[in-house]
Amino acid sequence: MENCIFCKITSGQIDSTKVFEDEDVIAFLDVNPKALGHCLIIPKKHFENIFDIDQEILKKVMVATKNISINIKKSPDITGVNLISNNGQGAGQEVFHFHLHIIPSY
Ligand code: 5GP
Ligand code: ZN
Repeated sequence: MENCIFCKITSGQIDSTKVFEDEDVIAFLDVNPKALGHCLIIPKKHFENIFDIDQEILKKVMVATKNISINIKKSPDITGVNLISNNGQGAGQEVFHFHLHIIPSY
């Protein structure tokens, strides 16, 4: 999708620090982290948010989120993770390409 920051990250037009990638999903560090290791998990294909995302793709995003969370939790300093997804302008969504935040707690 033209003018979508996260599509540009997926295509490599914008640099990011990737922490995971497979056929359908990528994860990268948030540029403005709420905590060390704060990352974003997105489908490679563009969907605006929870209201339009394809169900099978959503499952893949969730499984990746689980696996990345398990890896993050291996760090002895990390006591848990918050999973957050803002959907719609009223919910504070700023980037209209579906994403989940993983925010570690220490
Ligand atoms: P939300 O849409 O969930 O409210 O917030 C979007 C998130 O994307 C914010 O936490 C923001 O810091 C992050 N973000 C926005 N633009 C970029 C970017 O170009 N690169 C990266 N890595 N993160 C971004
Ligand atoms: Zn996009």
